[in-house]
Amino acid sequence: TRAVTKRFGGRKSLFKPATSVSAVNGVSLTIKRGETFSIVGESGCGKSTLARLLVRLLTPSDGAVLYDGNDISALSEQEMRRLRKDLQFVFQDPFSSLNPRMTVGALIEEPMKVHTALTRTERRQKVAELLNKVGLRPAFANRYPHEFSGGQRQRIGIARALASGPKVIVGDEPVSALDVSVQAQVINLLEDLKSEFDLTLILIAHDLAVIRHMSDRVAVMYLGEIVELAPNDALFDKPLHPYTQALMRAIPIASPHGRSMKAALLGDVPSPLDPPSGCRFHPRCPHATDLCSREKPTPANVAGDRTVACHHWEKIADDAQPPVQEPP
Ligand code: SF4
Ligand code: MG
Repeated sequence: TRAVTKRFGGRKSLFKPATSVSAVNGVSLTIKRGETFSIVGESGCGKSTLARLLVRLLTPSDGAVLYDGNDISALSEQEMRRLRKDLQFVFQDPFSSLNPRMTVGALIEEPMKVHTALTRTERRQKVAELLNKVGLRPAFANRYPHEFSGGQRQRIGIARALASGPKVIVGDEPVSALDVSVQAQVINLLEDLKSEFDLTLILIAHDLAVIRHMSDRVAVMYLGEIVELAPNDALFDKPLHPYTQALMRAIPIASPHGRSMKAALLGDVPSPLDPPSGCRFHPRCPHATDLCSREKPTPANVAGDRTVACHHWEKIADDAQPPVQEPP
């Protein structure tokens, strides 16, 4: 992506002044073919918006999303239909992303009708194959989504995403709605399918534990911006950005949605409607100085193919265990 920004709202009305929210603010990153690239951060940090921008389920307000050198936001609907074959999305909630009136077989077959020249018989055969690949019985093709558990439905969603023969699959928290015991199975499945089908996998997660063992590189997002980007092992061995450090140290607490949130030590995420001045993390950062509230840090290139956007990362990196402080 090239300096991608997505603003919501901003439509002028007669009575109200225009307001807009930058959910994604000037994000530039390059995802390599064949890698597993994860984007992590708390809820409301713009991860889902960025994920949707990457496959043009949304179009950017500014900047460009390049795929094979082409700006996908500039493609016509017809050109985009061709590209849709390559770029598929797996939604967070398998309960709402599958049409309840279609059989599982019809759901998986649908993308093949749009994107392939397969005959009806070939499509049926491929449905059975795909069900098998995602660990479900081919006979399930005649049943309806509501007959399945969350984990099974997510497997159906994955089979459907695979049906067009994609090159890239973006998963927006593909396991966060599932029981912890099922999460690992679905993650393992994605890993297996990735190597079998030569996929590039882009995973969105709020839970670092979920992506810990399968990412090649990880981007940490805070209030619409990438604050740190690093190879997986380097990031987990030595997080450089105070926000990454806090995410890793934070103790999971129960949330009303049943999943754990990692915000316990951090206080709340400020509203993206009115982002803090300078470094957007400064109101919650234990290392913040005057400079931090005045000036926005530019991402610095760090040895080992990493970038970090923090004025004081070098000093902070010297402290093996920086102090944990409650925000005021
Ligand atoms: Fe903290 Fe300042 Fe670094 Fe922002 S720039 S993360 S406030 S130390
Ligand atoms: Mg989300």
